[in-house]
Amino acid sequence: MSFFSNEIIGWYSENGRSLPWRETKDPYRIWLSEIILQQTRVSQGLPYYEKFIKHYPDLNGFANAEETDILKLWQGLGYYSRARNMHKCARLVQRDFGGFFPSTYAQLLQLPGIGPYTAAAIASFAFEESVAVVDGNVIRLVSRYLGIQEPVNKGATLRSINTYVQEEIQGFKPDLFNQAIMEMGSQICTPKLTKCDSCVLAMNCQAKKEGLVNRIPFKSTRTKVSQKYFNYYLSQNQDQLSLVHRNSKGIWQNLYEFPMEESVNSKVESNATLIGTFQHQLSHQRIEAKLWKVNKIPSRLSQNKGIFEVALGEIGSAYPTHQLMNKMIKAWQEQLTK
Ligand code: SF4
Repeated sequence: MSFFSNEIIGWYSENGRSLPWRETKDPYRIWLSEIILQQTRVSQGLPYYEKFIKHYPDLNGFANAEETDILKLWQGLGYYSRARNMHKCARLVQRDFGGFFPSTYAQLLQLPGIGPYTAAAIASFAFEESVAVVDGNVIRLVSRYLGIQEPVNKGATLRSINTYVQEEIQGFKPDLFNQAIMEMGSQICTPKLTKCDSCVLAMNCQAKKEGLVNRIPFKSTRTKVSQKYFNYYLSQNQDQLSLVHRNSKGIWQNLYEFPMEESVNSKVESNATLIGTFQHQLSHQRIEAKLWKVNKIPSRLSQNKGIFEVALGEIGSAYPTHQLMNKMIKAWQEQLTK
């Protein structure tokens, strides 16, 4: 019997946190929780999960919802394409599978927005298929345990980690094994302040033996991040503000924001009052946004035809927005109350 699997399962049985998605076999709830948890930590994801379950307790309710309503509930989690893909996925499951998720890893992988990690999570937690999950926590734990000094963002390294975990899961309850390995990675073998002193794997851990805990996992090159400059225009007509629907592909698709234009650098708009400058970081883009108060939206804006007016109270509730918008509105309101 494997030392690794026995130890992590033993540890999890005594120390695993009780979370609502661990108490269910419903693939819809498992799917929902996994996609939310790809965006955020458990403590922040839990209220989102509860909110979604309250509004849409089953897949059919979720599939029948309007996309705008899904985006509204998703607000603050980022990566809005994931929420849109979830909606597409739910509708496809409703149409092609009678509202029930397919029960195998291979079939799940065919659905929109479901990659190897989510497919493995649903297949193992809901249907007990013996397929191992490999997320960032698992990669860190296994690469340290085995002392892997190759970059973990290389295909060959990932495949060897996958193979190892897939062998380790054999002979164990797949849901239990997967929960245990993920929990060990997130609670004990953490990126910083790693808890090797209370780790049940410590006596066989290569990284610990070789003093490499803080250096593993190795990564080759960093993701290239591009710099963008956005000028947003806030135009107020009594209690109404100008808004536009972001319908182009790319970031924040289908969310609402103030009319804006992108510039090649951080240029200054002369006929306007600057409310503030905001730095916003996305995975591949660093955005410097300026919010300008204007009497009238500049006529050169390509979005002009799509601009409409709404009351401030409707922004974020009836019209879902992104976090940068929330930051800008907050700063503007703080200025008004000064
Ligand atoms: S001993 Fe430390 S580095 Fe090794 S698996 Fe445990 S927590 Fe991770």
